[in-house]
Amino acid sequence: MTNEIINKDKKYLWHPFTQSKTACDPIVIKSAKDEILFDSNGKEYIDLISSWWINTHGHCRDEMISSISNQSKKLEQVLFAGFTHKPAVDLAEKLVKITPKNLQRVFYSDNGSTSVEIAMKVAIQYWFNKGKKKKKFVALRGGYHGDTFGAMSVGRTSGFYDPFDHMLNETSFISFPEVWRGNNQLQQNEIKAINQVKEVIKKEKDQIAAAILEPLVQGAGGMKMCRKEFLSELVKIFKDSGIIVIFDEVMTGFGRTGKMFAADFLDVEPDIMCLAKSLTGGFIPLAATVFSEKIHKQFVNLDFKKTFLHGHTFSANPVACSVALSSLKLFDKDKSFEKIKLINSIHSEFLFELSKNINISKIRVLGSIAAFDYKKISSIYGSSDSLKLRQKFIEEGLLLRPIGNTIYLMPPYCIKEKNLKKSYEKLIEILQ
Ligand code: PMP
Repeated sequence: MTNEIINKDKKYLWHPFTQSKTACDPIVIKSAKDEILFDSNGKEYIDLISSWWINTHGHCRDEMISSISNQSKKLEQVLFAGFTHKPAVDLAEKLVKITPKNLQRVFYSDNGSTSVEIAMKVAIQYWFNKGKKKKKFVALRGGYHGDTFGAMSVGRTSGFYDPFDHMLNETSFISFPEVWRGNNQLQQNEIKAINQVKEVIKKEKDQIAAAILEPLVQGAGGMKMCRKEFLSELVKIFKDSGIIVIFDEVMTGFGRTGKMFAADFLDVEPDIMCLAKSLTGGFIPLAATVFSEKIHKQFVNLDFKKTFLHGHTFSANPVACSVALSSLKLFDKDKSFEKIKLINSIHSEFLFELSKNINISKIRVLGSIAAFDYKKISSIYGSSDSLKLRQKFIEEGLLLRPIGNTIYLMPPYCIKEKNLKKSYEKLIEILQ
């Protein structure tokens, strides 16, 4: 059976971020529970990256299964233009309550890239509706915002988009002052970035539609972190210059950083926030872009041309909205923030241990996220030694996907203490 699935997979499928010429056979996963994935031969894998950063509460949670089942029996889908339903309204109310105070309006779509695309398009049309044409964005170097064209334009320095470079829109990039234990260049790097921002604003203010950034942690760019004080200062500069600020919390949202949103660490608020991934706890694709009323107001007009003419077929899917509500309820039931604290302390304890014995650098930890660079292998994304290391982790039953030579952990919050500790012990053994 397993071989048949693999053979058919090889015959019919094209996988994301995968070079089929050199890739190992895919692993056939049959089932999952909490932090464990089971393959078709019964082998177990500890999901240390929450299956691409989405399974906040673990796999196949009964509460979420029930919400899907109940909602599916009542209403599985209805178009969202001219119609509405309780799950969409309840979820929007909840999102408005838990996101920063000034964010008041929810626009639904179905993945992280579309949530970013919507934020960018709204920023451009906001100015258009006010009679101004603006076409530039400011972004942080190394950031990643998704694989659609707008998102690629503001994420082009992530290094993934060479074939499309000539097709991308103009963006001004500001350097990202990375923080890690023992970085003594940090202050200079932050000053440099702030000066760059001031320079860009001085030269290009009239052309800039918005600034977009991943607050506190750049995910796909290599789990790079910056200081909250730096970020607050940066956002203040943008806002004082009248530039719209978009927070892409597609990865950092829903507890990853130790607070519900990375924005909760700051004393300034974004104008727009992008949410996806963990919104439904990993069950069904759903995204939300949340806007301030100041932005939304510019679209409310008797002139139809001022309408935001954008929509996705599956926008606000009732089953997806229901499971998102159920995922949000689990934060209290599971005492997730206490668990995140425990995960954080285990990360710190073991990374300290690791650093004593193994050649690693740039240790960084925030909330449930831990990352470090492993000096023995190439830092290039997709390098053969990075792929070999990934394969070794898999053989040992650890689902980890290094980004170049950055090894990171971002487990579901329900992970058992013994399984996280066991994972670190294996990790130390493998790296040694
Ligand atoms: N923004 C960020 C910060 C992300 O990490 C990702 C996905 N890794 C995206 C946007 C794109 O999300 P999706 O893959 O759902 O399109």
